[in-house]
Amino acid sequence: MCATKIAIAGIAIESCTFSPLLTTLDDFTLWRGNDLLARYPFLAAYADVTFVPLLAARALPGGVVSHAAYRQMTDEILQGLVRHGPFQGVYLDMHGATAVEGLDDAEADFFAAVRAVVGREALLSASYDLHGNVSEQIMRELDLLTAYRTAPHTDVEATRARAVRLLVDCLREGIRPHTAFVPIPALFSGEQTMTTVEPGHGVYAGVEAQVQPPGVLDASLLVGYVWADQPRVGASAVACGTDAAATGAAAATLAQSYWDVREFFTFPMPAASVDRCIEQAMQATEVPVFISDAGDNVTAGAPGDVPYVLERLLAHGVARAVVASLVDATAVAACEAAGVGGQITITLGGKLDRANGRPLQVTGKVEACAVVDGNHHAVLRVGDVAVILTAQREAFTMLEQFRRLGIEPAQEPMIVVKLGYLFPELQGVAAQSLLALSPGIVNPDVTALVYQHVRRPSFPLDRDMAWQPAPRLITLDGP
Ligand SMILES: [Zn+2]
Repeated sequence: MCATKIAIAGIAIESCTFSPLLTTLDDFTLWRGNDLLARYPFLAAYADVTFVPLLAARALPGGVVSHAAYRQMTDEILQGLVRHGPFQGVYLDMHGATAVEGLDDAEADFFAAVRAVVGREALLSASYDLHGNVSEQIMRELDLLTAYRTAPHTDVEATRARAVRLLVDCLREGIRPHTAFVPIPALFSGEQTMTTVEPGHGVYAGVEAQVQPPGVLDASLLVGYVWADQPRVGASAVACGTDAAATGAAAATLAQSYWDVREFFTFPMPAASVDRCIEQAMQATEVPVFISDAGDNVTAGAPGDVPYVLERLLAHGVARAVVASLVDATAVAACEAAGVGGQITITLGGKLDRANGRPLQVTGKVEACAVVDGNHHAVLRVGDVAVILTAQREAFTMLEQFRRLGIEPAQEPMIVVKLGYLFPELQGVAAQSLLALSPGIVNPDVTALVYQHVRRPSFPLDRDMAWQPAPRLITLDGP
């Protein structure tokens, strides 16, 4: 028997279609060759399989991907498939919420292109973020899809490993799985559906049980990504297995369990206006208090340059605060020109998301300048507020990012972050975290968003609606 050959490729980004920014090739980190293989240490378990690294691309959540960037990445992957083929399988390391200029369903387009090269006999297995938006077209191209089961995501590698294990197992046993897909008419933000708090915790704890029935290989529940205005946006349940009826039942059960708790999804932390959050933080006796500038949450795809919360901190005259961060390349350059200790008057932010922010004029003292992974940073102290400025968009999710700029988060009373829910490291030092429903394009309250293309009815846009899961069973022709 000849050795099994599996190609590895992927394009992963969460694309906010409400963003004024376009994501270009420069925004992606690209892995090829051994660098790509090193991302998947679990591959070592399959000595009899030859894994061929093609291209993996991943970017910070942002705006819609330019057609040119998508074409360039896709062409490289397709050419690699042709050059190094034939392949028995393809592992696709995805996110699942990519939007591309001129394409309604970028992942479906990509998978169909991969399928066209490798043929109907090959198996395609994808790993997804649970914030991916699935469509029936996508499921018609894939043989296997498995998604994260945690948010915040702590099972990224485990999910990738599962996608590869499922693929190898099916190839070894000559299985072509049936898949089932249940779109759930529910739109919830990641903040409302964390798996560390109820009801998300309980619903996701139930995923494992749906993988157990005979004839079911895997099952996943996806919250979806709501800051995109497309017909496929929303929650879904998917399953794959050798028994079509059991596979359909697993997906339907998961979908029903999600639907049953729809009234109970809520923000995991107190959510209020920016002013209310600042007042509450000023009164706190235990610190640090983190305020998530949720409308301009970079990890949800927002530009990250709305200076509104900074403006309000200065208006309130807070005693001490950190803003992490504002993206403004011009301001960073001005800080670098002034040098550490220099005093400057400049405008901050309001240059990218002009609909929600206007440039804020400030006078401050440069406290630090640094270049980290090619991104220029500066800390400008404006009154009693230390403002972290970055030349390129960056999400401050780890303590080290603050520390290398001379800021110790545990010792700061008030820290504003352009996030939604706090990432685990920050949560670990937070005495309290507040969700500021601030101006921006990624409002975590989906009822405040203006949609034109999402499926209706959908909860909670349409509250009085009845719904029952109807699994769409897909069986591909195969070997
Ligand atoms: Zn996610």
